[in-house]
Amino acid sequence: MNYSIALVPGDGIGPEVISKTVDVLDLVGDKFGHVFNFVELEAGGRAIDSTGEPLPAATLETARQCDALLLGAVGGPKWETLPGDLRPEKALLGLRAGLGVFANLRPASLLPQLKDACPLKDGVLTASNPEGKANFDILIVRELTGGIYFGERGREGDGKSGESSAFDTEKYSRAEIERVLHVAYDAASKRRGKLCLVDKANVLESSRFWREITMKIAAEHTNIETSYMYVDNCAMQLIRAPCQFDVIVTSNIFGDILSDEASVLSGSIGMLASASIGGKLAGGKYPAGMYEPIHGSAPDIAGKDLANPLAAILSAAMMLRYSFSLEKEAQAIESAVNKTLDSGLRTKDIASRTKNTANEKLVGTNEMAGAVIKALETE
Ligand code: NAD
Repeated sequence: MNYSIALVPGDGIGPEVISKTVDVLDLVGDKFGHVFNFVELEAGGRAIDSTGEPLPAATLETARQCDALLLGAVGGPKWETLPGDLRPEKALLGLRAGLGVFANLRPASLLPQLKDACPLKDGVLTASNPEGKANFDILIVRELTGGIYFGERGREGDGKSGESSAFDTEKYSRAEIERVLHVAYDAASKRRGKLCLVDKANVLESSRFWREITMKIAAEHTNIETSYMYVDNCAMQLIRAPCQFDVIVTSNIFGDILSDEASVLSGSIGMLASASIGGKLAGGKYPAGMYEPIHGSAPDIAGKDLANPLAAILSAAMMLRYSFSLEKEAQAIESAVNKTLDSGLRTKDIASRTKNTANEKLVGTNEMAGAVIKALETE
């Protein structure tokens, strides 16, 4: 099969990790008989430099015609003083909204090989795990195109002393909530069959609405164990007993914060992939799902062969799974990443925090990606 993939390498370490991911995908194509056609596009800081805007219309238009979009990261100190609407990060919101990708899937798991990179003590992880193992495997489903990040906002003043207040609005429609819940229930049915709605229903009306709708949909999914948790409790439970969670579904702002918290538990932000789906995958207009590592452009390590390429490579595996239904191929990438970690290779961000174990070897971006490719060749 032929697939068109829009590539937005972006800024900082983005181009480094994306070029390695393209090598991996090329090999997957050769091995499994697919052709991946890459269309490179500009967004973020690079686009500001060349066109004056973070998301040129041509980028969105072309991305809409592709089968999927793979993004590195955007942003950096060079563009930090620009006004909000001209900042590189504006491109992310524009792409998500423009492609209609309303559900962000962020896996956060602790691989056994990276146990020592997790900041939680072994005892904390094992005590809460029914099997006594030091691991967890969570999928956070975050609503991505609604809520307070997109709601009405502004400043008000009494005219005499200038601005005296500011506001942002959390507003969700029934349809917005229902569609993301369907994605989350579908994911839970393919995993361990547990779903937890995280909200602030003790205070917020919008959360009570989420809860009401979830209860209705839960009644249609009796095979899934549905639970409800306040966001402040969830922030605690994630570091007290992460293994209690399977799928967490939540609003845009809560998902943003909780998924960053969960990312630390996984050892490093350099390991975490994400998929943003919606569009045609959920009955919408545009085909492209958007796949990206959750890390930013990491300007502190850009160009130094220090970036962990695994989050980007694992994002490509998610793309094969969710956008192209190429499960075997996705698993081949994941298995190659696993084997590479088994062999003891570690970029700096995932090296053991507590001890330097004898079988660990510190490597850079190139060597890590090269090892994944080697492992993939023998898959
Ligand atoms: P960041 O994720 O770029 O970096 C945070 C820390 O994690 C840094 O110490 C960095 O070196 C490290 N890190 C990140 N990715 C890594 C990797 N793959 N391997 C090893 N270490 C890694 O977050 P930040 O510093 O807050 O943001 C830097 C820039 O990126 C900002 O301009 C921010 O707005 C932007 N940003 C973009 C995205 C995106 O494009 N999706 C997401 C977050 C931040």
